[in-house]
Amino acid sequence: MSDVPIYLDHNATSPPHPAVLDVALPLIQEHWGNTGSAHSLARAPHAAVEHARGQLATWAGARAKDLVFCSGATEANNLVVLGASGRVLCTATEHPSVLEAVQLRGGLVLPVDGDGLLDLECLEEELSKGAGLLSVLAANNETGVRQDTETIYAMAKAAGVPLHLDCAQLVGRHEAPENWDYMTVTGHKAGGLKGAGALLRRQGLALQALSYGGGQERGYRAGTLNPAPIASLGVVATLSHSSEIKTLRDQLEAACVSLGARVTGAGAPRLWNTCNVVFEGIQSDMLVVGLDLEGVCASAGSACSSGAAKASGVLLSMGIDHSALRLSLGWSTQAQDIARAIEVLKVVVARQRALGSESWHG
Ligand code: PLP
Repeated sequence: MSDVPIYLDHNATSPPHPAVLDVALPLIQEHWGNTGSAHSLARAPHAAVEHARGQLATWAGARAKDLVFCSGATEANNLVVLGASGRVLCTATEHPSVLEAVQLRGGLVLPVDGDGLLDLECLEEELSKGAGLLSVLAANNETGVRQDTETIYAMAKAAGVPLHLDCAQLVGRHEAPENWDYMTVTGHKAGGLKGAGALLRRQGLALQALSYGGGQERGYRAGTLNPAPIASLGVVATLSHSSEIKTLRDQLEAACVSLGARVTGAGAPRLWNTCNVVFEGIQSDMLVVGLDLEGVCASAGSACSSGAAKASGVLLSMGIDHSALRLSLGWSTQAQDIARAIEVLKVVVARQRALGSESWHG
């Protein structure tokens, strides 16, 4: 086994991209000034933040001045959901940073079908009752399932309800959705540094600050800006996944299927990099541990809930009462990594079957 693990957990976080390090390291080592200072040491970090603002706005098709930098997608999601006025709606497969905020507000969680796609009939009915915000996860972190955001936007627009899209898993991988009212992004899923995200909004739409203090980000998000991660987020917005990633993901998925696994969300459009599979009768925690021992980093769902051996709310909402293995590829994944991972999977799955790993009940 090589000393360097094969990393297949990009949806949790990703290794910093070389282009990111080129931009970020000087901001840590040399240009470490406070962007808000009046002296010369503020110039380079300030310029880096504004450059990143432009890069991200270009990717999203937004105005740079309608973008609020914050600490990550969690904060951006909290900002838009907790700050919205009126009834808030979201899908059942949201990231907890939306789901828990919606539940805290007494909002409504809308059902999804067996592939994780939002129930549009139910959406129509709830939109007709009026709402202050609809929040939808553009691409799911556990399953990779991508919602039909254009249809959802058209429905929300017709009902006069602003649509928020959580695009944390899209930036740096795919093109941005065309139509939205608010958008969340983060940098560390596709080669950026941890600690920067942003909330974008369309011109004229309301936003309620959650933090108060130094007046940064036009008063919408107080706190000293973090130039290196922010600059890295700007770089990530200029990246995208090649179709090679999809080819490798498909090879990995086909290998899982040949070992008896079922692909989650198989009937829906999905992120190119994500393989989420259920091995009936095998606890995915055991697979994750077995893979780890053989030098392959994987996950049993999302990073937040893996290790906790509890039901994935995302899978339960899709009617799947079994744990799943998530393998997520990224910019650093090579063909030889996938070839090796497939060999390791064969061994680990066979071992678990021989041990008679019991089916999992959350
Ligand atoms: N939204 C989605 C879809 C995510 O995958 C994540 C990260 O797991 C988040 C929000 C939270 O992102 P961050 O780690 O930047 O707070």
